[in-house]
Amino acid sequence: MIIHEITVIGGGISGLTFAHYTALKGHQVKVFEKEKGGGSIHSYCLNKRHIDFGAHTLTNRYAVVLEILEYYKATDQIDKPLPLKFEGYGNNRFFNLLSRIYWMEVLRSILIGYKTKKMGLSVSTYYSRIFGKKNYHHFFHYVFQAILCQDPDHYPAEQLFRKRERNRKYPNTFSLKKGLAQLLSIIQTNPSISLEYKNITRVTRDGDLYVLWSNAEKVAASKFICLACDPKNAALLLGELQPSMAGLLQHFPVVQIQSLLIGSSNSLLFSKRNKSLIGFDMPFYSAILYVTEGAKFWLFHFKENTISVAEKIRLISGVFSVREDEIYVVAARQALLPAVSADHLELQHKIDFEIAGSSIFVVGNYLNGLSVEDCCSRAKKEAERLSSY
Ligand SMILES: Cc1cc2nc3c(=O)[nH]c(=O)nc-3n(C[C@H](O)[C@H](O)[C@H](O)COP(=O)(O)OP(=O)(O)OC[C@H]3O[C@@H](n4cnc5c(N)ncnc54)[C@H](O)[C@@H]3O)c2cc1C
Repeated sequence: MIIHEITVIGGGISGLTFAHYTALKGHQVKVFEKEKGGGSIHSYCLNKRHIDFGAHTLTNRYAVVLEILEYYKATDQIDKPLPLKFEGYGNNRFFNLLSRIYWMEVLRSILIGYKTKKMGLSVSTYYSRIFGKKNYHHFFHYVFQAILCQDPDHYPAEQLFRKRERNRKYPNTFSLKKGLAQLLSIIQTNPSISLEYKNITRVTRDGDLYVLWSNAEKVAASKFICLACDPKNAALLLGELQPSMAGLLQHFPVVQIQSLLIGSSNSLLFSKRNKSLIGFDMPFYSAILYVTEGAKFWLFHFKENTISVAEKIRLISGVFSVREDEIYVVAARQALLPAVSADHLELQHKIDFEIAGSSIFVVGNYLNGLSVEDCCSRAKKEAERLSSY
């Protein structure tokens, strides 16, 4: 068993950003990740085009992300963003999104509600005040559902579309030349960070060291640990060490997103549509259109456990009016996202209170918001706590 200074459990953007900022302070960091290409950032290469199964767009408001790219002299890897134009699909038809808006209600509600503060409100309460209840239920609910890949109604309004300054040196929105997974590979070039693929199943204490186990094997020990995995796994790992903290983490529900990248041999019918889709009362949140070498592919993000793969194919064939045997699955993937609600805001503070002054660090997309920048800024803050230790 090798003794490290710092070990990180979870090699997504949260864990690697924590590793990056601790490495900057002169520490050696060991990151354990349970699977290759795991996590919410995953780029799949199809016909030399990188298709992002999870996060696909960064913005020039993402200051920490840009700081990382600048540090590794990788801003030349910034690429044009995925062109995103959407139309709605529901009730067996496609429609223009704006046709779902009740404009009179928007005018009335904005005049009354424009001073509403997001603090402590859920997405449905806040946006119903701003745009009107009918507009929220008929339109914004579905748009936010597609953005968050989950039911958005109870999500904390203050953690969606945070106000952040633009850095005008960079495009408003952008991707990276090899897809967003390149951000992870860029950080991994840091010689002070080493990553190993191991599923960590247990953490115990031995004197002042944390001992990391993968099933029956002790794989590492370290003075500091950072939990950078989903809240369910983090709760499991902390169960023996810090039951009170594990109890808090268990309160965060998680949802699974099942994504299918779809192509079709019937390019004539399949290619009739030119926009990505937002599902209205459909088993899918959204379907993102990718065009590569003239062929169109749709990446469908399905809700958890709704229908089987065969039923998904049937549904997709119905959407595009092609036969089921003319549709094929290019790649499939599952991602986990926390389903944070406004009620969890207090829990987020309690977690910070519980770990203040401890040698356990906790980062991830359930503590400060879902976006890549939210994850990076949380991880940077925790790394700063470590350096003040
Ligand atoms: C479909 C989708 C689209 C999105 N679009 C955008 C977008 O356009 N812009 C944006 O800013 N954000 C977007 N997001 C959100 C953002 O991508 C995620 O919130 C963020 O990447 C989460 O990073 P993370 O490191 O906190 O968690 P994760 O990426 O989930 O990483 C956690 C890692 O921990 C590993 N792990 C778990 N348990 C263990 C264990 N026991 N041992 C070892 N390793 C373990 C997992 O395998 C995983 O790799 C999107 C998310 C999804 C799913």
